[in-house]
Amino acid sequence: MENLNINRERLQADIEALAAIGRGDDYGIYRMAFSDGDIQGRKWFIKKAEEAGLDFYQDGAANLHARYLWDEQKPSVVMGSHIDTVPAAGHLDGALGVVVALECLRCIKEQGLKVNYPLEAIAFSDEEGRFGGMLGSQAIAGMLTPEKIVNASDLDGVSLIDAMQNIGLDAMNALHAKRNPESILAFLELHIEQGPMLDNMGISIGNVDAIAGLFKWDITLTGTANHAGTTPMDMRKDAFMGLSAFASQLQRILDENGSPRSVATIGRVEISPGAANVIPGKVEFSLDARDTNPEVLNDLANAFRKSLSAIARKYELMFDFRVLSEIAPVKSDAGIVETIENVCKSLKVPFLQMASGAAHDTQIMANITRAGMIFVPSKDGRSHSIAEWTDMDDIERGANVALNTLYRIAGGQL
Ligand SMILES: [Zn+2]
Repeated sequence: MENLNINRERLQADIEALAAIGRGDDYGIYRMAFSDGDIQGRKWFIKKAEEAGLDFYQDGAANLHARYLWDEQKPSVVMGSHIDTVPAAGHLDGALGVVVALECLRCIKEQGLKVNYPLEAIAFSDEEGRFGGMLGSQAIAGMLTPEKIVNASDLDGVSLIDAMQNIGLDAMNALHAKRNPESILAFLELHIEQGPMLDNMGISIGNVDAIAGLFKWDITLTGTANHAGTTPMDMRKDAFMGLSAFASQLQRILDENGSPRSVATIGRVEISPGAANVIPGKVEFSLDARDTNPEVLNDLANAFRKSLSAIARKYELMFDFRVLSEIAPVKSDAGIVETIENVCKSLKVPFLQMASGAAHDTQIMANITRAGMIFVPSKDGRSHSIAEWTDMDDIERGANVALNTLYRIAGGQL
């Protein structure tokens, strides 16, 4: 099968044009969902879709769809990502996947390539979480409820309803963005890795076979606050000593109960009362653990609990934990993983089969359709910062893998 190529100059020009939208004085990108930057980015997407002669459609969740050969009959092959950003973001997270999706549709259209299914390039609303995250893909997957929409607000207390009303949209219409799973044949997302593996190994393509699930706990160890000078070491109930013992066991717990893909992080610690001359009576801390296998996650949760209760006994502390969130891991579709693999071999591009440690719209879309993801390297693993960078050669390889994968799927080869 003949290999297709994207138009590198056009793709690079698009990346740079979108990167100039919402850019702050600090060079960071500010396109938080439904902010001025995001609105400008949306206008840019619509203009590009129209220039390419693609049909444009905006659904109730304000997801933007550029469509080719849309016929309301056959299921579409969807490629997409997001153009909204975190504050002071880099220029590639999400944006690259949207620009590449547009480029793929343009290439297939202008070369008059025959496809058996309509194609859609989607820019999803609020992936990054100003209002909770993955709003647009959740809407399409039918995972929103009126309650979720009403309760969604940003850190400044601006509600989703007001933010959407500001630009003439009714947030409740997001409920109507739900797609019949039959109307989508497959979903593909190209994204920067946002981690160091591909860059470290000098490999241009990641073929994502699973997206990690996670659990987040809020843990409290309670002892007794007391005088740091008068209380002998063997008569203390020092909550921080318990935390420190637990932290030093994290690696052992992962080694014994996890997989090579397991990670765990204590990212927030609060010591009370928090004075240099007082024994810590209480520590509250977060635990974030991730893996791509639900059973491994379960084993890890049990092992963490066991370790915490043993430590609490040893240091005479009380221990309590609250589950803040649990997200199940998802697997990519085996057929799509295989198609990406075949495309890489045919293009003679080395690839790494790997997991995604970060969450993406793909994780949501995988609930309603066959889904897969292509990663390109992040320089030094940096993301969500102006340090975000991917070499244009890697971007071109990734876009070519995406184009050929999309074309094979749309040609009915899945
Ligand atoms: Zn992203």
